[in-house]
Amino acid sequence: MQQNSLRNLISIIAKLPGLGRRSARRIALHLLQHKELMHKLSESIISTAKEMKFCEICNNLDSVSPCAICSSSTRDKSLICVVEGVADLWALERSRLYNGLYHVLGGTLSAINGTTPESLTIDKLKRRLVSNIGEVIIATNATLEGESTGHYIASLVEKAGIKATRLAHGIPMGAELDHMDDGTLTIALKLRQLF
Ligand SMILES: [Zn+2]
Repeated sequence: MQQNSLRNLISIIAKLPGLGRRSARRIALHLLQHKELMHKLSESIISTAKEMKFCEICNNLDSVSPCAICSSSTRDKSLICVVEGVADLWALERSRLYNGLYHVLGGTLSAINGTTPESLTIDKLKRRLVSNIGEVIIATNATLEGESTGHYIASLVEKAGIKATRLAHGIPMGAELDHMDDGTLTIALKLRQLF
């Protein structure tokens, strides 16, 4: 018979992305068998929750606001890359290929989930579309909602007289056509380039 506190812990873990009750039970049991890890985890969660905040300019997560990217003196401040979430920003940073600024939307527009421009950080983005910005790169995901959000933002950017570009979508390196899903193949064909 599980105690209340243990049952509570299992239901909290089960709320994490990608985990169900079965994995939550295994994790809770593992933590109970490794008390030192359990204490470290709980301390780390409390201190991270206290320390991390959303950047007032771009909505990135950092211990300071404005974040290190927004206040960096070496980044190209004429470029803004619009992403859906912080995980996308991290992915682009890992590539080390991009040296401009970001804007994190906090999701996508969705009629089904009732996500409107007001519930994202689109107003904040509008205020950033000023004359010293030369280009806005729209890097929303290649999903239906990512695409329509991208189109919406592109129209705002163009209205402000700024160039809007998007990431090329296509076939990943090393992939075979036979294994592509129809959406990827359709976009790759539509955005075909000269050899
Ligand atoms: Zn920032």
